[in-house]
Amino acid sequence: MKLINIRSYDNYIDANLAVGFLESEGIASYLMDENTASILPSINYIFGDIKLQVWENDYAKSIAMFEAEDARKKRLMQCPNCGSHDVQFMVAAKPKNWISAILTFSFFSVPLGIENSYHCFSCNHEFKKLE
Ligand SMILES: [Zn+2]
Repeated sequence: MKLINIRSYDNYIDANLAVGFLESEGIASYLMDENTASILPSINYIFGDIKLQVWENDYAKSIAMFEAEDARKKRLMQCPNCGSHDVQFMVAAKPKNWISAILTFSFFSVPLGIENSYHCFSCNHEFKKLE
């Protein structure tokens, strides 16, 4: 039996939430490259993101669990402009001013200004909060 990559994450919080999500149904999972991605996030492009792995006999059930959860989250997200559910949460590293831009550059491109928003793929509207 072997481990299979099921998802990848760019931060350890989401990765560990996914481990707990699978564990709630009794599925053991493992995180690969968690330490590298957590300690040196600016070089993720070399090692890749944190990989969530499950045993191959749990793969189908895990995929089904994540698909059901993704569908549930999608139903909760609705664009205030057009009412579409084709909405995704976006995280963009954008320096807020010239000081944070210089600091971001100085600290090996670790973004110090992060902007979170939702993007509607139906009407391209961007908004900060779900209603
Ligand atoms: Zn919209």
